[in-house]
Amino acid sequence: MENLDLAGLIRNIPDFPMPGIQFKDITTLIGNGPAFQQLTNTLTERYKGQPIDAVAGVESRGFIFSAPIALALGVGLVPIRKPGKLPAATYQIEYALEYGSNKLEIHQDAFTEGARVLLVDDLLATGGTIAAATKLIEQAGGVVHELAFVIELTFLNGREQLAPYPVYSLVKY
Ligand code: AMP
Repeated sequence: MENLDLAGLIRNIPDFPMPGIQFKDITTLIGNGPAFQQLTNTLTERYKGQPIDAVAGVESRGFIFSAPIALALGVGLVPIRKPGKLPAATYQIEYALEYGSNKLEIHQDAFTEGARVLLVDDLLATGGTIAAATKLIEQAGGVVHELAFVIELTFLNGREQLAPYPVYSLVKY
């Protein structure tokens, strides 16, 4: 009984957090148990049987989707976090945003050398965030298997920016 319209459960909030942005609100999707389950199953079905040693998720909304996928695949979960949150030795990357910059960190010992990593996030916009996350994964000795998103804003061409990494998304705008 998996046939819910997942795209229809994503709420659009105009002008949030600033004028001109069409914010894709996933709380209306994850707040629906069968929909959240269907989403997790769809992503898990794609990756079941593939050579994946770990799932990585980017703070904060990436955690919501990466954790159930790691659990379903039976592999570990590696959090990529905002600065100052991870307690052991980290690698840090700073990356440019439209206005200003952001930083992300990963534990240096997050992976065994050569581990194949599925990187999961809620939404692909310009791809800047996830490009930074791929660099951290590689610095920590991981190999990026694929980038999986719930939502892709195709008009921002993030997929091209992330080439040659394979990109998969469930709902495209
Ligand atoms: P980017 O680095 O441009 O790909 O943006 C990545 C992150 O910004 C995503 O993981 C989202 O959490 C957030 N984001 C960017 N644009 C939107 C949007 N229109 N609606 C919701 N979240 C967004």
